[in-house]
Amino acid sequence: MREQDGAPQAALETLSAADLPPGDVLIRVRYSSLNYKDGLAVTGKGKVIRQFPMVPGIDLAGTVEQSESPDWQPGEAVLVTGWGVGEAHWGGYAGFARMKSTWLTRLPAGLSLEHSMTIGTAGFTAMLAVMALEEHGVQPGGKPVLVTGAGGGVGSVAVALLAGRGYTVAASTGRADLEPYLKSLGASRIVPRDALARPSKPMESETWAGAIDSVGGQTLATLYSQIERHGAAAVCGLAGGHQLQTTVFPLILRGVSLLGIDSVYCPPARRQAAWSRLAAELSPARLDAMTTQISLADVPRWAETILAGAVRGRVVVTLGA
Ligand code: NDP
Repeated sequence: MREQDGAPQAALETLSAADLPPGDVLIRVRYSSLNYKDGLAVTGKGKVIRQFPMVPGIDLAGTVEQSESPDWQPGEAVLVTGWGVGEAHWGGYAGFARMKSTWLTRLPAGLSLEHSMTIGTAGFTAMLAVMALEEHGVQPGGKPVLVTGAGGGVGSVAVALLAGRGYTVAASTGRADLEPYLKSLGASRIVPRDALARPSKPMESETWAGAIDSVGGQTLATLYSQIERHGAAAVCGLAGGHQLQTTVFPLILRGVSLLGIDSVYCPPARRQAAWSRLAAELSPARLDAMTTQISLADVPRWAETILAGAVRGRVVVTLGA
């Protein structure tokens, strides 16, 4: 990405290893992925990129090529998400990436490099949201857990993880045709997007034990008014809007909690725990069912597609595989 006349422009360019930014580990990138934030970065529709020129791609998986760190040996399989990669530091849409060794996560046993990017930042975020709900005390066996933006990346992985752990999952989508897909991931019920993206009362009937929300805006305001007493909503995203107009009533009269999810600066120990669980709880078949494979040249077109809310599940970008 370069800046031309004040506007970000995407182009494929050939660079050498000497062009890469400083870092103590060089990674041969095999896969990256396309997340909502990548869509904002590559189209220039969001101020995601903080300096130019920039190699976008907020996550990557590959093998260590060279290492000056005693913690990492050549040939080791690693993945990186967050830490400003693809925003302030050159990211995953390249054959090689030079990184700080402290940003690397060891590929968990049983997970392929490719499937680690099927999960990618979006799936990792979904796991952090599930962990936050569990730690809050939201248990399987009670009222359903609502997942919004269910057809997208965070949403699809959240549905699969929750269903796999025995929760009853209600999947909210604006795409009625995704019902068979969402039910195949484990949703028991579909909630039309319009049922939530509408003006709501400060407190509505207690419908959900918890929620994982990647939509924000009015959708979040409505679902928050419907969380049962002492339940919680894990708040991940803003695909439907960044504003939140609501009241304190669910907080102070029902003890409802809003749990903020930040995947970018998640501490390393919690990352490794989340990735171990992702590897154990998502089967290869389930991951394949939510994946579209694209090449680097396809990224600009798919960046528009993800911002239009038209990606189903996850998009894996194949690099030097
Ligand atoms: P996707 O585009 O894959 O998923 C978003 C989904 O939201 C869409 O598929 C669509 O689902 C729904 N949606 C899109 N537009 C609207 C709209 N205008 N109103 C209501 N619903 C809409 O994106 P990701 O899953 O990659 O990311 C989802 C959100 O989570 C983004 O805002 C992203 O920035 C955020 N995020 C945050 C992270 C964090 O660390 N907090 C990390 C990763 C992502 P459907 O058609 O099924 O309704």
